This record gives sequence, structure tokens and C-alpha cells, in this order.
Amino acid sequence: MNKPIQFALSAIAATVAFGASAQDFPAKDRTVTIVVPFAAGGPTDRVARDLAEALRKPLGGVSVVIDNAAGAGSTIGTAKAARATPDGYTLLLNHIGMATMPALYRKLPFSVPNDFEYLGIVNDVPMTLIGRPTLPANNYKELATWIEQNKGKINLGNAGLGAASHLCGLLFQSATKVEMTTIAYKGTAPAITDLIGGQIDLLCDQTTNTTSQIEAKKVKAYAVSTAQRLKTPSLKDLPTLAESGLPNFEVTIWHGLYAPKGTPAPVLAKLNEAVKAAVKDPDFIKKQEGLGAVVVADKRVEPAEHKKFVQAEIAKWGPIIKAAGTYAD
Ligand code: ASP
Repeated sequence: MNKPIQFALSAIAATVAFGASAQDFPAKDRTVTIVVPFAAGGPTDRVARDLAEALRKPLGGVSVVIDNAAGAGSTIGTAKAARATPDGYTLLLNHIGMATMPALYRKLPFSVPNDFEYLGIVNDVPMTLIGRPTLPANNYKELATWIEQNKGKINLGNAGLGAASHLCGLLFQSATKVEMTTIAYKGTAPAITDLIGGQIDLLCDQTTNTTSQIEAKKVKAYAVSTAQRLKTPSLKDLPTLAESGLPNFEVTIWHGLYAPKGTPAPVLAKLNEAVKAAVKDPDFIKKQEGLGAVVVADKRVEPAEHKKFVQAEIAKWGPIIKAAGTYAD
């Protein structure tokens, strides 16, 4: 057979084979992996594990597992997912970092608009400002006084540049006009362990990680980052930061699911259908509500709306981050 014909035939065969496997997605003997770019046991990991369970049934009972590729404020895991084979078997769950990283990093090993397929926003999560159990302050007013008296000595934990805790901490320092020493971890799971142990003083973290620690009184809770107080019984008495003297302070974290760019359209359609089923799953909704999170019930679960929302968030946070002043290479 002459070369060009042979090449054309094998290209057709490859297309047919890929097309067929896209139709069969997900194969019963394969595993779908969700890359979580933060440490196990933390807030994003908890959302991912609940989501994995909710996705299993709509994906025909296939197993959905988590790969914690943590570090560098989620850039390591996000880059790993961007480079994965685009066949639907490797996905990424990440949060608002997808919108803040472009402003925080001068160079990123991936492009948020160009290297991903968007599969839907799954939830919104409030944040809480919490302190080590030995902090003398018992409410936000006392904390504000303690911060004034301890300027230059305060350690604030976070999960690295681009993490939600970093964003909240950045805004908090800017609003209080007090610079704190930030300690970066691979996720807020290890950060909250150090907070409980008294190695750091403060942490602003998602309720999916802090609710159980607040309920167990292992940390001191001072305020919530949302515009309104929360409805979760154990968090409903916490004031907002805005009402505590930091006007307009508002951060809500959202999580979205992504596939690497180039994943075949029929696979993306099946994955998005599964996401839509997951966000209606009463079990998933209940578990997330118990952690203070709100499962998405609006059009952001549509891929085009998810992408539009991320672009709007990039446009919103860029100038705020620049004004708050930040530092990244
Ligand atoms: N999402 C991070 C984690 O799961 C925490 C953060 O972004 O602050 O650890």
C-alpha cells in the first residue's frame, strides 16, 4: 500500500476507535480519577469525595477515585490534570483558585480558559475566620484588639498562593491594615492541625473543613466571610466580617469540575449529565449542607455558564487582588 493511503486509513481507524470508546464511556473496567490539587482531609477533598460518590451511579456504577496532587497553591495538581489524557477518565475539581491564580501568578503552567473543558460548578462554600484554641480573644471584637496589640507577631496559615485561605487572608490583612506572617501548607487540613496545636494563630478556611472543628470546640470561631450570616445551626451565631467592622468584606468559594482540553464531546456530555444528576442527589445535598456548603441549583451547572462564570470571576478578582497587593512568580 502506498504511504499516503496507509496513513489515511490508519487515521480513520484511530478516529473510529476513539469515537467508539467515547460512545462506550465510561468503560466498566476503568476508573474515573478526580485530581484534587490540595491535601487529603481538607475542604476541597471533602467536596470531591462526596461528589465522587454522587457521580458513581449516574456514571453507570464505575468507581470514581481521588488523586490528591497537592502543593503550590493548587498549581501542581491543576497542571497535572491539564496534561492528562483527554479521555474523560481524569478530571479536576478545583475552586475559586481557577479565577484567582491568573492574577496571583506571573507565570502559570496552564491556561484556565484554554486548557480545560468545563463540566459545571457544583457548590458554593462560605469561609470562617478561626483561631488557635489558646487565643485569649473570645469574639471578633476581642480579636480585633488582640490583633492591634500583637502586630508583627501574628502567624496566619494558608494553603498556598491561589488557595481560598490565601485569598481570604490577603483581604483580611488589607481590611485590618495589619500585615501578618503567612505560613503556607499543602492544604488547610495540615494548617488546621497546626492551628489546633497552637503553631499558628489564625486561619480563614472553608466551612467544609472548619464546621466539625468549631462544633468540637477545637478552634475558636470569630466570623464568617459571607455577606449574610449562615443558616447552619452551629455557625448561625457567628457575625459576618462586614458587620464586625470590615465593610464590604465578602468571599464565597465555589468548586467546579473540569476535564482536560480535547476530551471528546460525547464523553463531556455524559460527564455533564452525571454532574447534573449529582447536584440533585439528596444525599450529596444533605452532606454538603451539614458542612455549611450550598450545592448549586442554578445554570452554572451548564458547561457554557460555568466557563462564563469563571471568566467573570477572573475579571472580578484580578483588580481586587492587585489592590490588596500580592507577590507571586
Ligand atoms: N481548598 C484548600 C484545601 O482543600 C484550602 C484553601 O483553598 O484554602 O486544602
